[in-house]
Amino acid sequence: MSQHACVFCAIIQGSLPAHIIMQNDAVIVIKDIAPKAPVHYLIIPKKHVTDITSLEQQDAQMAGQLLLMAQQLASHLSGSQAFRLVVNNGADAGQKVFHLHLHFLSGQVMTDF
Ligand code: AMP
Ligand code: ZN
Repeated sequence: MSQHACVFCAIIQGSLPAHIIMQNDAVIVIKDIAPKAPVHYLIIPKKHVTDITSLEQQDAQMAGQLLLMAQQLASHLSGSQAFRLVVNNGADAGQKVFHLHLHFLSGQVMTDF
């Protein structure tokens, strides 16, 4: 999918509304529209990259910033700072939006999987 038809690019550009939690130069965090946990955020690079498979060496810093954003989000959680990160990489893994994103899940005790 081109970035012109990408729902997350539209949110980043401001042409589609979203509940924005936090952002910096490289990363935006929004509330997931269909939450699977009491806290369900999406950590999204502002650069359109399809998935982890498509990352290049030059994306190393951006990829690190995704994890550091998770750390920052956790520091703002009330109660437990435990969280789970999930990346669905590819359609067979359940990916539906083909712009790289980390699911940040928290606010409940997570079951094993
Ligand atoms: P994935 O299956 O890993 O591609 O996850 C895509 C996620 O994006 C799902 O959890 C959706 O609920 C979420 N999502 C899709 N469209 C929007 C939107 N406009 N705003 C917020 N979250 C969205
Ligand atoms: Zn995109």
